[in-house]
Amino acid sequence: TNQLTGKVAFVQGGSRGIGAAIVKRLARDGAAVAFTYVSSADKAKAVAQEIEAVGGRALAIHADSSDAGAVQQAIQAAAKAFGRIDILVNNAGVLALAPVEDFKLEDFERTVAVNVRSVFVATQEAARHMGDGGRIITIGSTNADRMPFAGGAVYAMSKAAIVGLTKGLARDLGPRGITVNNVQPGPVDTDMNPANSDFADTLKGLMAVGRYGKDEEIASFVAYLAGPEAGYITGASLTIDGGFGA
Ligand code: NDP
Repeated sequence: TNQLTGKVAFVQGGSRGIGAAIVKRLARDGAAVAFTYVSSADKAKAVAQEIEAVGGRALAIHADSSDAGAVQQAIQAAAKAFGRIDILVNNAGVLALAPVEDFKLEDFERTVAVNVRSVFVATQEAARHMGDGGRIITIGSTNADRMPFAGGAVYAMSKAAIVGLTKGLARDLGPRGITVNNVQPGPVDTDMNPANSDFADTLKGLMAVGRYGKDEEIASFVAYLAGPEAGYITGASLTIDGGFGA
């Protein structure tokens, strides 16, 4: 569809996995898309080229989401290049797993900086460039509601923080016609969580559908929330997890 024609999107973490699928889907729906990456410059360039090859507009920006200043500058650069921001997607995330006895404090700090603080910082900055009809979507996790294995406490905490942040931000920005939502995927086949590992077999056993999700399935849901028909959905945490939490 062309439901996002004329819109400008900014995606934190768009070089691989779910984020790359979101970037491509929003572009296919007509949006100009700026997105960030931190280590995968070649993959980011390939995503942008794929979009430009079919006449779309894309801009890959190096910005580490753990650096608040870098996130602000990236959004300012995107707003300058494309005129404003209509859609913000906070996808960048990190997963550090370790038993509580061994969990490193630096991994705690990095998880909070990338998975939580960057969402706040990006929302604050993007809202300065957003008008009526704006959309803010964060990729949380079904682990906010269900963490059925050991070692994931800090990750679960970071994704649970997004539930409350989303509710509060929806109250702040609702009067301006901007919606704020949290999409909570279950296991999705990416570099972070490959569907062919031993761990994956354990996770599949916990799901109603018994299979991993595809990044395109998450991107499709994000595209709906980003579109004009979703204006009455806000402050919500919406789970798309193959029944992992059921
Ligand atoms: P991947 O590890 O496959 O990809 C992560 C993406 O985020 C990459 O584009 C990466 O950029 C970017 N990124 C990571 N850290 C930073 C950073 N500090 N600054 C900027 N960009 C960064 O992850 P997924 O695609 O699997 O996950 C995406 C989101 O979905 C995360 O928030 C994750 O927690 C969440 N999620 C994933 C699930 C899954 O099963 N896969 C399930 C539930 C939630 P680069 O390539 O440059 O490193």
